[in-house]
Amino acid sequence: SRESFLHIERMHVMSELSASVSHEIRNPLTVTNGFLQLLKDSKTISPDEKIYIDYSLKELERAEKIVSDFLAYGKPQSENMVYSNLKEEVVYVKNILTSYAKMNQVEIDCHFTNTLKTKYDKNQMQQCLINLFKNAIEAMKDRGGTLYIDVSEQEDNIVFLVRDEGIGMTNDEILQLGKPYYSTKKEGTGLGLLMVYGTISKLKGSIDVDSNKGQGTTFTITIPV
Ligand code: ADP
Ligand code: MG
Repeated sequence: SRESFLHIERMHVMSELSASVSHEIRNPLTVTNGFLQLLKDSKTISPDEKIYIDYSLKELERAEKIVSDFLAYGKPQSENMVYSNLKEEVVYVKNILTSYAKMNQVEIDCHFTNTLKTKYDKNQMQQCLINLFKNAIEAMKDRGGTLYIDVSEQEDNIVFLVRDEGIGMTNDEILQLGKPYYSTKKEGTGLGLLMVYGTISKLKGSIDVDSNKGQGTTFTITIPV
């Protein structure tokens, strides 16, 4: 099954807001987490109170997840467009996710041509790749496999292929992608792809999804140079 989309309208406002909000939220989350950990070790609290603290810590963890799927890595005033080589971003994100991949028995196989220069926002591009690669790894969670990444320049476009050997999707599932809060995961946020669609649409790019249930998925991202 094969579907193409470009969700320009879905994301504009969200992506503008996201970067600046992230830093503001991260700090209080970290502080609160620290104090709750201290309280938890206190000898004077009751077992009931301890349960409340555990709930609070779990909810904090959930908030942290939302921040990292949707907002993280963005700096305030994130419009820091640079003319740079996308290869740097791919290598950086691949390194960040190496241990996560290992944990899930996933190998990463990465190829690119040398010159992939274009204008883009570094933080947003990294976030975008993190979300795509993370999803691919998570799709192979219980079965292992290889995450293939191929980036090349074709005519006046940079083309990213992100292919996994994971659980795959039906046509109906593909049509849900990029909708806010759509997630099939127990602890998913459903915000990762929303961010991806927003970033790519800002660059006037397109996203193509090719997936077969039970076999795997390929995301093809085309960005005009
Ligand atoms: P989350 O990862 O928190 O669920 P995302 O927005 O990143 O949210 O992804 C939304 C949903 O899209 C996932 O829950 C999953 O059902 C589906 N999905 C995304 N990428 C893949 C993939 N590579 N293989 C299979 N399903 C995927
Ligand atoms: Mg995700």
